[in-house]
Amino acid sequence: MMKGSLYIDGKWTDAAGGRSFPTLNPATGQLLGYAADGGKEETRLAIDAAQRAFHKWSRLSALERADYLMACYDAMMRNSEKLAEIMTLEQGKPLQEARNEVQYAASFFRWFGEEARRVYGETIPASVAEKRIMVIQQPVGVVAAITPWNFPQGMPTRKIAPALAAGCTVVLKPAKQTPLNATVLFEVLEEAGLPPGVMNLITTSRSGEVGEEILTNEKVRKITFTGSTDTGKYLTKEAANQMKRVSMELGGHAPFIVFADANLEEAVNGVMASKFRNAGQTCVCANRVYVERPIKERFEALFKAKVEALRMGDGLDSGVNLGPLIDENAVAKSEEHVRDAVAKGAKILVGGNRRASAGHFYEPTILTDVTDDMQICSEETFGPVAPVMVFDTVDEVIERANNVPYGLASYFYTNDINRAVYVAERLEYGIVGLNDALPAVAQAPFGGVKESGVGREGGREGLKDFLETKYISMKVL
Ligand code: NAP
Repeated sequence: MMKGSLYIDGKWTDAAGGRSFPTLNPATGQLLGYAADGGKEETRLAIDAAQRAFHKWSRLSALERADYLMACYDAMMRNSEKLAEIMTLEQGKPLQEARNEVQYAASFFRWFGEEARRVYGETIPASVAEKRIMVIQQPVGVVAAITPWNFPQGMPTRKIAPALAAGCTVVLKPAKQTPLNATVLFEVLEEAGLPPGVMNLITTSRSGEVGEEILTNEKVRKITFTGSTDTGKYLTKEAANQMKRVSMELGGHAPFIVFADANLEEAVNGVMASKFRNAGQTCVCANRVYVERPIKERFEALFKAKVEALRMGDGLDSGVNLGPLIDENAVAKSEEHVRDAVAKGAKILVGGNRRASAGHFYEPTILTDVTDDMQICSEETFGPVAPVMVFDTVDEVIERANNVPYGLASYFYTNDINRAVYVAERLEYGIVGLNDALPAVAQAPFGGVKESGVGREGGREGLKDFLETKYISMKVL
């Protein structure tokens, strides 16, 4: 039985009164272990530790911080199998996908370790001869990072790495469904020998209480959040009371458009990867598949054959490429979307049922003859259900693709260069995958427009979100 602790000021500690909460394996429904249940007081202690550590950490040279980040990367690589295993056990994704996420998660330490050394300022010509104007970049201060369960290691490192590179210190609050992922991640990162207080962990079943301390504690200067749009809006409104900086990576509703001239095999492989990775529980997964009318039958036949070949099961079993959903609510959501679509005239091409056994499984499903008025076309399913629709013209499909409040990821497949530029420039999304279903990498700016959030993670932009600009005006005597 696993047991997780809090990590505050470089020490592993229990929550007050030894309080803990259970965490389950979603593939079996069985108890995996207990995580420490931190509350307001532990959060305050973690913020205090981060504030104390900030003074020294922010004054290290960029090279010194870069070396620490590289040590974090090496520690994750040394322990990659251990990290992947806890991810499959607690989150459910197939082991190979978990291994991929560990690589992705670690890559942020390498990338931001390199970027740490390129936080440049500038000098500006003054309007009088005896003045000099300098602009420098400084860390914003203590950062609170709040992360979801669907990428239980990738989301924390995508925030921790740039924060540390910039010179900030961090308090991480992971989701209650995957606290042991964060615990094991911190155990591994401890091998990098970071100074106490630079990185702190509060696992909790009481996110509201921990959130309140984060929101009201003046030492926290920035909140970086990944999760649902509703929670993101709440945190943004409350953070305004102290004018805390915010970065918000929120929900998405990605269109996946296949033009008749596309390489069909590539497009179907793309939609498979986008829709069924993590059993559809990703913010960037294809939520609406639009296929140009002349290729509808061929596309659906190929798509159906590939979906039928998927093997659903416990992610630790070899050959499994579709794991469970995170919990019963997630299964119920997929069921609800399929029921609503069928009631409004959609047909089930394949799948359409939950698996009646232990664990939270829903079959990979394709719906056809889907129309824009169905619930699945405007709400995130966060499950393995692919709704397919047809379109006739480029402008029609762009308008339908943009007609949601979200704007995170979008995808389209075509071999026509002129159409490629036309469509890419008109999709109102932060990320466009052009003949590419897996665009997320550490060196590119990831993030959304509209109600999908503010700020970017990864790339050069990912570091800017943790920096303040200071202007020094100097008179030379
Ligand atoms: P969620 O309910 O908003 O939870 C996300 C995190 O916020 C969890 O750690 C949760 O803690 C915490 N939280 C909830 N209420 C809080 C409060 N009042 N104060 C402080 N923290 C609070 O989202 P979810 O349903 O777990 O995650 C899925 C969503 O994340 C989807 O909408 C998905 O699209 C989005 N997502 C976005 C991205 C992106 O990069 N844009 C990436 C991945 C996922 P507890 O779980 O412990 O309550």
